[in-house]
Amino acid sequence: MYEAFVDHHVHSRHSWDSDSSLESLVDAARRVGLGGFVLTEHLEFDPSEMGYGHFPYERARDDWEEQAALAPDLKLRFGVEVSHQEERAAAIRDYLRARRFHYVLGSVHHVGREEIGSFMAGVEGHGIPLEECLEPYFDACLQVVESGLYDALGHLDFPKRYSCKGPRYTGEFWLEHYGRKIREVVTACLDLGVFLEVNTATYRVGFTEPYPGWAILDLYRELGGSQVILSSDAHRPEDLGTAYGAVLKELVRRGLAVRNAVA
Ligand SMILES: [Zn+2]
Ligand SMILES: [Zn+2]
Repeated sequence: MYEAFVDHHVHSRHSWDSDSSLESLVDAARRVGLGGFVLTEHLEFDPSEMGYGHFPYERARDDWEEQAALAPDLKLRFGVEVSHQEERAAAIRDYLRARRFHYVLGSVHHVGREEIGSFMAGVEGHGIPLEECLEPYFDACLQVVESGLYDALGHLDFPKRYSCKGPRYTGEFWLEHYGRKIREVVTACLDLGVFLEVNTATYRVGFTEPYPGWAILDLYRELGGSQVILSSDAHRPEDLGTAYGAVLKELVRRGLAVRNAVA
C-alpha cells in the first residue's frame, strides 16, 4: 500500500527502549505494505543517560546485513538516532567518522543538561508556563541542523509529547511563542540541505498532527520547503507506518511531497 515509501525512524532491540527483533519488524513492514525502513537505534553520548553504552555498532550492523540479505523485497537501511548535545559534538563527530551509516538522524532529547521528560515534569510541577522555558530546546534543534553531522532533524516540537496537556500544544502554540527560533531552524534545514522529519508517533498518543505540527509544516512550505521525509518512530512492530495514510494525504494537501532520504 505504501510501497513507494520507507519508514525513516525504526528502533529494534539494539535500542535501549525497544525489544523488537529485526525479523518482527521486517514482517510488520510487509504487512503494512511499506517499501522498507531505516533502522535508527538510539545512540547516547551522555554517561548519565539510561541508554548510554547500549548500542552495539558491530552486532547491530551484522544483524542488519543478515536481514537485508533475507529481505531483498524491502529497502532496509542501517542508520542511527543520535541524541545531540552541543557540548558532546566533537565526540559525536569522531564516532560517526569512524563508522558507516546510511542515514544519521539528529534529535534533541534534552533541555539544557536535563532529559526532556523529567524537565517537562519539573516545569509543569512548578507551574512554569511552557511559553517561557523551552528556548534552549529549540536552540539545540538549530545546533543539530548547523552541526553538519546529520541527514535529518528528528521530531521538531517534541516537548509536546511530555506535557500533561499534550494535544493542546499544536504547531500554532509553538509558532506563537517560539516562532522566531523555529523559523531559523526550518530555514537552516533548507539552506544546509538537512531533511525535516515528519514523525507520526504522536498519533499513538492522542495527537491529530505529527511532529512538527501542521502550522510549522505550513511555515516550512512558505519558506520554500517542498519535500519532507516520513517516519513513525516505531519501537514495536505494530508501530510501523503509524497513520501514514492520513498524514500522506494531508501533506499533499498542504503542498509537501514525501521523499526517501536513502538510496
Ligand atoms: Zn527521538
Ligand atoms: Zn526514536
